[in-house]
Amino acid sequence: MKITNKIIIAIDGFSSTGKSTLAKKIAQKLGYIYVDTGAMYRAVSLYAMENGFIDDETFLKKDLISKLADIDLKFRYNDELGYAEIYLNGKNVEHKIRTLEVSNRVSKVAAISEVREKLVEQQQKMGLEKGIVMDGRDIGTVVFPKAELKIFMLAEADKRASRRHKEMTDDGKNISYESVLKNVTVRDLMDTTRKDSPLIKADDAITIDNSDLNVDETFDKVYKLVVQKIKD
Ligand code: C5P
Repeated sequence: MKITNKIIIAIDGFSSTGKSTLAKKIAQKLGYIYVDTGAMYRAVSLYAMENGFIDDETFLKKDLISKLADIDLKFRYNDELGYAEIYLNGKNVEHKIRTLEVSNRVSKVAAISEVREKLVEQQQKMGLEKGIVMDGRDIGTVVFPKAELKIFMLAEADKRASRRHKEMTDDGKNISYESVLKNVTVRDLMDTTRKDSPLIKADDAITIDNSDLNVDETFDKVYKLVVQKIKD
């Protein structure tokens, strides 16, 4: 297929619904840029943890807000992996941001309006030339409300937790299924109930429930919608 008409594809949804895997595959197929906005919120959370602004008991929100200008986030394409990795102040933190410690703190950090404002501005700049697939929680509602194609991903919580648990144990992490399930459900609750840009389906988004679909089936379903949109 010859692609001349570049569009913006927004993929939102609950934690561990396979948004990133899907978004990466679509971007690779189309030669589009892929942006994992969750990685940006995770990197800010890592910064907060490394600077002592957040731990199990405390969260020094004002201190983090006062340091936001010092946080530089960049994506650099990794040829071998076939996607871009995230750099925090010049350091590749792609692995460091995927721990359960970061997952357990990120929704608190993502609820801060000043953090969102900074990241949303950067995300919008990345989409200026279109030809982009972006996944997150507020892409179709806030970042690109005019995106040509919006997908909203759902799946049953226990299936999402099993998939994430397998991914983490395959990656050598020693972690219980229960702790992953708890993280997924707590994050969903925090992300859907926060005041600023809560996770919500955009009116014009198409819902995909992949509880009973594998990666390829999910991709095939969404790719048909992409092709249709590009032809329109
Ligand atoms: O996508 P991922 O699960 O890595 O996102 C981590 C967290 O970052 C989410 O649970 C949410 O709190 C936050 N996030 C967000 N808005 C986005 C992307 C992620 O609030 N666009």
